[in-house]
Amino acid sequence: MKKGKESDGGDEEEFRYQMEIADQECPACGRKALRVYGRVDEIPHFGKVLEQFIQCEACGYRISDVMCLDERDPAEYRYRVNSPDDVKVRVIRSPSGFLEIPEIGVEVRPGPAAEGFVSNVEGVLRRVKRHVKLAAKWSDREEARERAEKILERIEAALSGEDEITIVLKDPYGHSAIIPEDEEKLEVRKLDEREVKKLRSMILRGALSGRETF
Ligand SMILES: [Zn+2]
Repeated sequence: MKKGKESDGGDEEEFRYQMEIADQECPACGRKALRVYGRVDEIPHFGKVLEQFIQCEACGYRISDVMCLDERDPAEYRYRVNSPDDVKVRVIRSPSGFLEIPEIGVEVRPGPAAEGFVSNVEGVLRRVKRHVKLAAKWSDREEARERAEKILERIEAALSGEDEITIVLKDPYGHSAIIPEDEEKLEVRKLDEREVKKLRSMILRGALSGRETF
């Protein structure tokens, strides 16, 4: 079996099954060279998840997904990042997960390109930084570049312990979670019915509007 590439920071581990998709064209290059890789993982304090990714053997295009196999309540997780050790904290973000870092105005909503991943705080912040840098690059306004600079500085300050940011992860299907070994800096709250309804309809609208996300 071929070794699958790990998406973000987590343990390098063999993907336990792979399969060719013979009848579908790659959305990037159009060739029929897609392959699915997957594995079921047991995550301590969380349960079983199915991780999958589809990769094009011809051009390298890749999309990942993660699904929670146990039934869980829709919930909001809040984790305070204020120490270098926090990079290792496990984060599971399914495509229905809403990710926010209120201190720096970062908000990631599920959209048609939403990816699921099993990662850690480091992986999440790396994605956020990549996004912020890209947005600044495409903006011709000095203001936007300065704002991006501030966001990046704040992230670094939180990771060095000089400052603090909060990672908020909400999932109206209960498929996302933040799982630190030490739960002291974690708050978990069940979402009420109204919130669940609202978030589910936002996912639907996001899918319809074609909004970009990660
Ligand atoms: Zn391709």
